[in-house]
Amino acid sequence: MRFVSFSTTEIPTPHLGIVRDDEVLDVDLAGRTLKLITSDQMLGLIENYEKGKQDIETILEKVGNRRFSEVKTFTDIGAAHKLSEVQLAAPIPQPRKNIICMALNYSEHARETAQVRGRSADAPTVPVFFTKSTTSVNGPYGEIEIDPAVSTEIDWEVELGVIIGKRGKNIGEEDAPSHVFGYTVINDVTARDVQARHKQYFKGKSLDGFCPMGPCIVTADEIANPHNLALNLRVNGVTKQNSNTSMMIFSINQIIAILSLGMTLEPGDIIATGTPSGVGFSRTPAEFLKPNDIVEAEVTGIGMLRNTMKQALISGSPRASS
Ligand code: MG
Repeated sequence: MRFVSFSTTEIPTPHLGIVRDDEVLDVDLAGRTLKLITSDQMLGLIENYEKGKQDIETILEKVGNRRFSEVKTFTDIGAAHKLSEVQLAAPIPQPRKNIICMALNYSEHARETAQVRGRSADAPTVPVFFTKSTTSVNGPYGEIEIDPAVSTEIDWEVELGVIIGKRGKNIGEEDAPSHVFGYTVINDVTARDVQARHKQYFKGKSLDGFCPMGPCIVTADEIANPHNLALNLRVNGVTKQNSNTSMMIFSINQIIAILSLGMTLEPGDIIATGTPSGVGFSRTPAEFLKPNDIVEAEVTGIGMLRNTMKQALISGSPRASS
């Protein structure tokens, strides 16, 4: 199943929808017509998915082979929408924890960054983790602000995002798949100058709007092999990254096993699994995003983010970062 968080003029707060073809169904509203009490939030669905899944299956049984817009009880209460007529937020608009990220999980990317940063080009033998703040979360089609007082070296990183569905600690690799709720697309937007200045990933990865996510979460049962998904990123239509999740150094099962060693993973936790080669700062000459650039990040079988870079109207103080 494909789930989104969407808003409309009638319900402006992002809430849970299920997508089929070019339509989205408001899960909470549709459920009410069937006397079901289902969460209207993605996190609520993920946390209580055994019940939520049954409710959604009941809703889909009612739909049968029809389109959502052909089910009168749903259209009467305004539960069925065209996907093109709603606003999509990040699937989890306000995560409870920082987004957990993998650095250097593709060998080619490890090599290209090693040259620029002057460090060993060997692939890492243990995963390098960092996080992005929850306030960096952006919608799949949101604008990303460029403030030259903050950063002049804004870069792109398309990644497969893993959404944890089941709480666990010390999870074995063989059990890891049962802890995955689904998958999404993440652009791990990065201020390279800020990252380098502060000697650590967090700040340069956490600027407001620097974590576009979505457009949906595809449940794990619909992705036959998460290690065979094409990853693409284009800037103004020009391909910059073109790879496949089969090239990951640490598999999703390994990432979950290592992360959860002594550290509990919870439903709704988000893991960005690293980016392939083709980022801007390791190109010759280096390339960074400019106002009005359009960045498209795509994972085949999940969907595409399309974000526009926007000149900030109010600049931060240059002194604040010096
Ligand atoms: Mg990254």
